[in-house]
Amino acid sequence: MGKRYLMAPGPTPVPPEVLAAGAQPVLHHRGPDFRALMRGCLEKLQEVCRTRNDVLLFTASGSGAFESAVVNLLSPGQRVLAVAAGEFGERWASLARAYGADVQELRYAWGETPRPDDVRARVDETGAQVVFLVHSETSTGVVSDIQALAQATREAGALPVVDAVSSLGAVPVETDAWGLDVVVTGSQKALMSPPG
Ligand SMILES: *Cc1c(COP(=O)(O)O)cnc(C)c1O
Repeated sequence: MGKRYLMAPGPTPVPPEVLAAGAQPVLHHRGPDFRALMRGCLEKLQEVCRTRNDVLLFTASGSGAFESAVVNLLSPGQRVLAVAAGEFGERWASLARAYGADVQELRYAWGETPRPDDVRARVDETGAQVVFLVHSETSTGVVSDIQALAQATREAGALPVVDAVSSLGAVPVETDAWGLDVVVTGSQKALMSPPG
């Protein structure tokens, strides 16, 4: 196949050596060779994700991992605050709503930057137990101050869940040091691998 140009924020171009690795013979997915490969990947991903906690790999795109966070953290009727200043923030609000969460929104015009004081005030007001935050809102290009937003979330007594799909690997994301309870990313953006 001829060269293809991807003009999207993701999938990004995959380096030739990564593509070549994908062309190697198949390992048995329940055998010892695969187990060692998987363990090695997870250990390296802990460094990339800046955490000493477990990294979970999903055979899904970033949305699948985010859906898992919603399903595993929330029960129907539970109150959550979705901070939305673009396409992805709004998408997480509707995803959580589809699962029956009581979704409160902190909505900004597209292109605005979410403010920690607003998050603190909305958590106080709503009693939300979980806050969905977008680090790099790809639809507008705005990178929020996720450290400050997560701190405000925690100080108000809620858990920060962060969409770092287009930020992790491109700008600093300090999962443990910033107290981010859940960080979701995808393989096909800054990590330059195939999607899924
Ligand atoms: C690309 C992107 C997603 C969606 O990721 P998929 O891997 O396509 O499911 C979610 N959030 C942000 C901020 C993104 O840039």
